[in-house]
Amino acid sequence: MSERTIVYRFKNGIYINLTNRCPNLCTFCIKTKWAMQFDGHNLDLAGQEPTAEEILADLEKELQTPAQEVVFCGYGEPTMRLDTVLQVGQTLKKHSRYPQFKIRLNTNGLGNLINKRNIVPELKTAIDKVYISLNAENETLWQKLMRPAPEYKNGYSSVKEFIQSCAQAGFEKVAASCVENTGADIQAVKELALSLGAEFNDREYLK
Ligand code: SF4
Repeated sequence: MSERTIVYRFKNGIYINLTNRCPNLCTFCIKTKWAMQFDGHNLDLAGQEPTAEEILADLEKELQTPAQEVVFCGYGEPTMRLDTVLQVGQTLKKHSRYPQFKIRLNTNGLGNLINKRNIVPELKTAIDKVYISLNAENETLWQKLMRPAPEYKNGYSSVKEFIQSCAQAGFEKVAASCVENTGADIQAVKELALSLGAEFNDREYLK
């Protein structure tokens, strides 16, 4: 197997493979279906999560070529490593010689529960855009699709609160999303996202 990938380029963005850990086991998650591979990259960290210093060193090289966004992503949930998100994001904002890109967080919205506090004010110091997986119009469906670990079973209301809190915090963009063809009512999820103050993105069901 090829060496683990920490930072990779996809479309107009540079993506950070921060962790493979996630409190959910979504029915549509591609990480196991695609054997931890993505677009030719091995995203299996094999328990060796990158340090902030490793990430920043890889970003420094990758940013020699312009990009529109630097994205905290996975295969996993970035807010499992909130301290690293904040350290890398704040460093990029303070010291970057490449100011043209925006910093985005892709998240399942459980960051407040994971970190046992409201993380939105801290995120505001490091992140420009927040994209949040909503994926269901009610808690029953959310539990069925996201298959959260037992301690996150009641996380749907926290996800909605997180979206609303981000929308009120003044990020450049906050978007809630729904994966297509899962049984969710896309229009109802869109209306819910808008009612929480977010924009809405629908996402293709990847197979
Ligand atoms: S939240 Fe994301 S990483 Fe976690 S299981 Fe779902 S799709 Fe996979």
